[in-house]
Amino acid sequence: MDARARLRAYLEQRRELGEDEYVLDSMSVEQALSALGALQTGAVAPRQRVPALREPGTGGSAADRPGIPPNIPTQASTEEAPAPSPPPQAAPDVRLETAPEEPMVARKLPEGLVVGQPNGTLFEENPFADVSSITALAKVIEECTRCPLYRTATHAVPGDGRKGAGLMCVGEAPGATEDETGHPFVGAAGQLLTKILGAIQLTRDDVFIANVLKHRPPGNRNPTPDEVRACSPYLLRQIEIVRPRVILALGTFAAQTLLDTKTPIGKLRGMVHRYFGVPLIVTYHPAALLRNPAWKRPTWEDVQLARRVLDSPHR
Ligand code: SF4
Repeated sequence: MDARARLRAYLEQRRELGEDEYVLDSMSVEQALSALGALQTGAVAPRQRVPALREPGTGGSAADRPGIPPNIPTQASTEEAPAPSPPPQAAPDVRLETAPEEPMVARKLPEGLVVGQPNGTLFEENPFADVSSITALAKVIEECTRCPLYRTATHAVPGDGRKGAGLMCVGEAPGATEDETGHPFVGAAGQLLTKILGAIQLTRDDVFIANVLKHRPPGNRNPTPDEVRACSPYLLRQIEIVRPRVILALGTFAAQTLLDTKTPIGKLRGMVHRYFGVPLIVTYHPAALLRNPAWKRPTWEDVQLARRVLDSPHR
């Protein structure tokens, strides 16, 4: 790992621990590391040049070996007066928190809400427990009359994706374009979701996309509690069948429904919740993102978190 990547990893970890941001413009790597406390105060004089940190195992001194930080030279450049050399002493290991064998996500990120137990049945007495495939469940949804929404909708929108998809995105309900096509997230918000997934190297084929409600509420009004209660067994059965490694709840409604809470979305973000043992990350709904571009950055952070949890062997 080079110096830049090491600094980036370190900064990300400080942020995950809740520390304020550091402004790095015009700061050298060593100044930034020193400001972060990764280097001993005074070990590096201002504007003093140091050689680039080398990848462990590429030769060089013992300081290049994993777990041992590189030497920080004390000799000043020719344009500057020599800085007094501090007595030789071991510098702290800046990679202490990035040891690859450690469960970084589980250890560093605040644990969120816990709903259900790992390997538990998602929904006791689920009326669709015998429906064993996504395709069969979609057919049941298309013929559903459990709430009045089927009467006003054009098409049911069961969801797109396959069993075994690593990431499952869950939104609120179909909109107008979804109602016309029978597919989730195909309007403007859906196109944005596709871009968001692309930012973490996922295509729509890699994920399962669904909504809490499978039919569109008239005029895109908010779902009623009765409608949510009637439709929830479908989503729960989809989760049971797909068995995603991570769930990404898109927007307040999906997040609060899955986590059974009224906590605002802003306070649900940035944590790894557990939904019957499945890590669940909360982010803004792409439609809300279209209305409020200021949420792009937090959304970016959320999907990066989802990606890290997805990649972690210690989920
Ligand atoms: S919204 Fe859900 S519960 Fe209501 S009719 Fe459609 S599939 Fe059935």
